[in-house]
Amino acid sequence: MNPNKLWTSSLEAVRNLYICTKTGLSSGQRCRLCLAPSAEALCKACLSDLPWLPTAERIKRRAFGQEMAAFSYEFPLNALIVSAKYQGGTGLCRLLGDLAARSLGSPGPPVDCLVPVPMPWPRVLRRGYNHADEIALGFANSWKLPLRHDLLKRSGWQPPQRGSSRRERKNRLGAAFTGDAGVAGCAVMLVDDVSTTGSTLEACARALQKAGAARVDAVVVARTA
Ligand SMILES: [Zn+2]
Repeated sequence: MNPNKLWTSSLEAVRNLYICTKTGLSSGQRCRLCLAPSAEALCKACLSDLPWLPTAERIKRRAFGQEMAAFSYEFPLNALIVSAKYQGGTGLCRLLGDLAARSLGSPGPPVDCLVPVPMPWPRVLRRGYNHADEIALGFANSWKLPLRHDLLKRSGWQPPQRGSSRRERKNRLGAAFTGDAGVAGCAVMLVDDVSTTGSTLEACARALQKAGAARVDAVVVARTA
C-alpha cells in the first residue's frame, strides 16, 4: 500500500476506534475499525486484515512452558489493544480474548484454570479494571475454563525501573508476584494482552511454580516481533 494511504487509513481506524469507545456504539451496529454497518464487532474485511500469526509461529517455547499468541502486535491490532486498555474498552478486551481463543482453537495440553496477570492495585484503582482480567474472561467463555483471580497476587508498590540493570529489574519483577498455595498440583494457563520479552509471564510462572503448580503455560492476544 502507498505509505500516504496507509497513514491516512491508520489515522481513520484510530479515530473510528476512539469514536466507538467514547460513544459506546454497540458492537452489533458498526464495525469498531471502519464504522461500516456490521452484525459483529469487527466486519469481515477488517477481521481478515488483522495481523493473524501464521500457525507455525503461534506457539513459542519459554523457560517456564509454552506461550501461545494469536496475533502479531502490529497495526491495527495494537490500536485495538491500546483502546481496550486505556479507553475503558472492557467489551473490547473480552472481544480480543474471544477472537484469540477461537482462532487458537484450544489451550493445547489439559488446563485446570486460567489465571490473568495481575496489575498493581494502584493502577487498577486508577483505570477501573485490569485489562488482563477482561481478556481472560473472553478466553474463559470461549474455552469453557474456570477463571481464578485468587491464585496469583501482585504487590501494589512497584519500584522505579529506570536506570536499573536487567538483572535488578528481573529480581524486582520476580518479587512482585506471589502464588497461592491453592495452586498446588494445578495445570495453569496465564493470560495477558501482549508478550514482548516474556519476562512478566516468566516472573508469574515462577511464583506459581514455587507455590506448587504442576504446569504453567501462557496465552496472550499478541506477541511483538
Ligand atoms: Zn470494518
